[in-house]
Amino acid sequence: MKINHSIRVGIGVMALAVVASACGGGEPKNVLQSASEGTLTVGIKYDQPGLGLRNPDRTFTGFDIEVAKYVAGKLGVTPENITYKEAPSPQKETLIQNGEVDFVAATYTITDARKEKVDFAGPYYVAGQSLLVQSDNTDITGPDSLSDAKKLCSVSGSTSAQKIKDDFAQDVQLQEFDTYSACVEALRNGAVDALTTDDIILAGYAARYPGELKVVGEPFTQERYGIGLAKGDDEARAKINDAIDEMIADGSWERAFNDTVGESGYPIPSPPTVDRY
Ligand code: GLU
Repeated sequence: MKINHSIRVGIGVMALAVVASACGGGEPKNVLQSASEGTLTVGIKYDQPGLGLRNPDRTFTGFDIEVAKYVAGKLGVTPENITYKEAPSPQKETLIQNGEVDFVAATYTITDARKEKVDFAGPYYVAGQSLLVQSDNTDITGPDSLSDAKKLCSVSGSTSAQKIKDDFAQDVQLQEFDTYSACVEALRNGAVDALTTDDIILAGYAARYPGELKVVGEPFTQERYGIGLAKGDDEARAKINDAIDEMIADGSWERAFNDTVGESGYPIPSPPTVDRY
């Protein structure tokens, strides 16, 4: 009887621990506090060439990484003291809210819906949603040619998937994956007809598979990339906005773009104006 009771209590405690860790349970971080302690944890993408990529040797490269490093530097944190954490699209807000990252720099569009949960510095870049198809495809030329129940892949929790649900749901069969690289594999092996997300992300995949994949049509949304951080961390947001302004003004923004995204042949646009809302 006694043993049974303690086993039951033990299982109860274990169940609670599992629930707590599944929810993360932590408090959001204060970016300037972390920086004053000398380290920052930054949420990035691991699978988006040119933007946020974990290389086989476990180094990280891409425009988002360069922006994160520049911002961290302005907050007094050196690149060796940045810890990167993967921030898949469906988890970005949660990672910030639970304090698992200080900020997210991961092709993260500033939206009013997301602003209910997190705040944004920036924008540091403006992209637009587009389509990626196999190079020999001739019938998909833009979002309006997705009729006839074409199979379209995107990532859950992204503005790209939401846009399709809002505006093109009648015409397409949307399949939502956790990452764009999973969509790329589905596109390459013919399981889907097209992949939709931001043009700058798609350009990186097209450059990785030349002659196999191509970007089609004109961009049909505006995606203003911000640095996501805890809601109400206004002091840090102002400092990060200053850092983005400086990155643009001192030429580092252009250099970073050319060294990363530029390699795919994607032309450099003019930098955006930071929006201090
Ligand atoms: N920029 C879009 C978004 O924030 C798509 C890219 C992504 O999922 O990271 O949802």
